[in-house]
Amino acid sequence: MSGVARGYIEVTGTAVTMPFTRVEGREPGPHLFVTGGVHGGEYPGIEAAIRFAGMLDPDTLRGRVTTVHMTNPPAFYAKTQYVVPLDGRNLNREFPGLATGTVSQRMAHAVFQLARAADAWVDLHGGDIHEALVPFVIYSPLGAPPVAERSRAMAFAYGIPVLVESASIEGGSYATASHHGVAAILAESGQVGQLDEAAVQTHLDGLRRILRLLGMTAGDPPSPGSPPEPPRVYTKNLWVHAPVNGLQYPAVEVGAEVREGQIGARIKNEWGEVVAEMAIPSNGRVLFQARSLAINAGDPLFAVIAP
Ligand SMILES: [Zn+2]
Repeated sequence: MSGVARGYIEVTGTAVTMPFTRVEGREPGPHLFVTGGVHGGEYPGIEAAIRFAGMLDPDTLRGRVTTVHMTNPPAFYAKTQYVVPLDGRNLNREFPGLATGTVSQRMAHAVFQLARAADAWVDLHGGDIHEALVPFVIYSPLGAPPVAERSRAMAFAYGIPVLVESASIEGGSYATASHHGVAAILAESGQVGQLDEAAVQTHLDGLRRILRLLGMTAGDPPSPGSPPEPPRVYTKNLWVHAPVNGLQYPAVEVGAEVREGQIGARIKNEWGEVVAEMAIPSNGRVLFQARSLAINAGDPLFAVIAP
């Protein structure tokens, strides 16, 4: 039966509930799953998920779209970066989750059950509260060839010019999904705790393109990466973490072309003395950087991508 259903996904054994909308089209077709706010401070993805769910019309949709508007309400309302405040874990390192685990593991399990019931998953992210980044879309080349191929087609279709191909899994949404037979991408747009309208539109445009790619709405499937040209593919994705606690000072601009050995960030102690200088690990482009003055040992400082 076509129509719109909305409600909350309850995470068994916790007080966490996740708002969702399910739109069932009049015509049969694929099942698309969309998540916003797996990280609570990545606002454009949350806003895009809410608007996307509201704009779908059962009369013109083929198939079904399930959208979780805000996947991590505890982090959203606590305004925490990266982690679920209830157990200090990063939800996007916990997939496929555990039904009897900690709160984050249970949340991941609940989300992953929905993902597994779908044909394709788009996970909407952005720079977290203290992160600046270049918009990018990432997918896994692992998994069964038809799945990886569909993930790749989705990544090309999303319309973001920077495409990262990553072969690591580490409990991340898109890679774990791909490994379990569900085509998936993770798209990052927006940064530093801002609800930026252009970043919201980037996600909405990408989601419309995915609907056309999957034949769920009328219109030609988007040609790869159009407009204006196919995305550039990066297969090296190198992250540099802080070795010590302190005050961190970025030494490069996000998005800049950089050279191996160049200083990417400096860490000083509370007296202003440099205690660490972190080098750029490869020629390439700065994908992401932390913008908080405060940094802890083990925190990501910046990432560099290269073809
Ligand atoms: Zn994120």
